[in-house]
Amino acid sequence: MRFPIWVLSALVFFAGLSCGARAADEPQLTPLTAEIIAPPHVVSGSDGKRHIVYELALTNITGGDVRLEKLEVLDPDSGASLAVLGADELAERVTPGASRGHETRELAAYQFAVVFLHVALAEGTAVPSRITHEITAHFAVIDGDMTLRIGAGEVVATAPVVLGPPLRGRGYVAADGCCDSIRHVRALLSLDGRFHLAQRFAIDWEQIDDDDTLVVGDTKVPANYHIYGQPILAVADGTVVGTRNDLQDQVPGSLPANLPLDEADGNFVVLDIGSGFFVNYAHMRPGSVKVKLGDTVKRGDLLGEVGNTGNSQAPHLHLHVMDGPSPLASDGLPYVFDSFAITAVNEAGTEDFDKAEATGSPLTLTPRVPPQTLENVLPLDLSVVDWPE
Ligand SMILES: [Zn+2]
Repeated sequence: MRFPIWVLSALVFFAGLSCGARAADEPQLTPLTAEIIAPPHVVSGSDGKRHIVYELALTNITGGDVRLEKLEVLDPDSGASLAVLGADELAERVTPGASRGHETRELAAYQFAVVFLHVALAEGTAVPSRITHEITAHFAVIDGDMTLRIGAGEVVATAPVVLGPPLRGRGYVAADGCCDSIRHVRALLSLDGRFHLAQRFAIDWEQIDDDDTLVVGDTKVPANYHIYGQPILAVADGTVVGTRNDLQDQVPGSLPANLPLDEADGNFVVLDIGSGFFVNYAHMRPGSVKVKLGDTVKRGDLLGEVGNTGNSQAPHLHLHVMDGPSPLASDGLPYVFDSFAITAVNEAGTEDFDKAEATGSPLTLTPRVPPQTLENVLPLDLSVVDWPE
């Protein structure tokens, strides 16, 4: 049976008025759809909190504008409120068409958007096995507000994979890391007709010297960045299931224009480390890759060196864990490192980091005295990490 859109709009209106009389298990017409794009995981961060990072796809199925006012993440089993996003936060996290840079809490008629969500569980809150969402919005078609409970889904119960160090030594900065920096966590790509977010928990590692700079001298020369040429290590035993070693370094300072998609990772290695976990290492130094397809490696083995190949504007090691061998067409999974120390945090944020990378100015760091020795957690955004000897 087909309904013209005006009938549907009228039904939506009616459903809004009549929901008090509806039995709990009866289907309800809703003017928004909400679906979690990939099953959310829970990961312990270096701040001592547990974090859930995921995306909610919203579609306005009405013929009028919708203005999102409030979104609450709930544990449907305990009833606990896990996070509340008001108008200002929604305006920064809702992206129509999943197009980064066009954030707004206003959805036009029939428009699709993605809400990029980060729930940091308060201390003492039980880890939910399911989550759902209570969304309050203003609907132009009824010139009024409705609150909908939609977008329920399971939370993955398995623990994140435990990794060894990807690099050696001191002073590595976890740039564009979890959970609110946007370059990785919002890199949602439509590939072969469906969304993938392989980089959800990626970190771009760079390195500081004793003066807290990332680069000394001409910032256009890759070798002037302290991390350039550093050995890259296998974070676990595994098999090489993807690699490339033929691309040249980019000139630092800007991202390369018109780069083909298959060159985005530059020279890279993908390791299959078992149990459905794959590790992607990207932007390696030209000719430095030491392994070939099908090789087996042990944790700590040398894979290659840090470079500036592919979609890179300064030498760094991009590392992420995913659920398949494709660095792009897979789902990004959280991971933890078994042992590391945090010596400082760049609380001045991504802008300060970008300036240090572009100009050679020192990072504005807040030291951790004494250093925080941590086990089995994910280093969060802009932590400065020493790896164990
Ligand atoms: Zn990256």
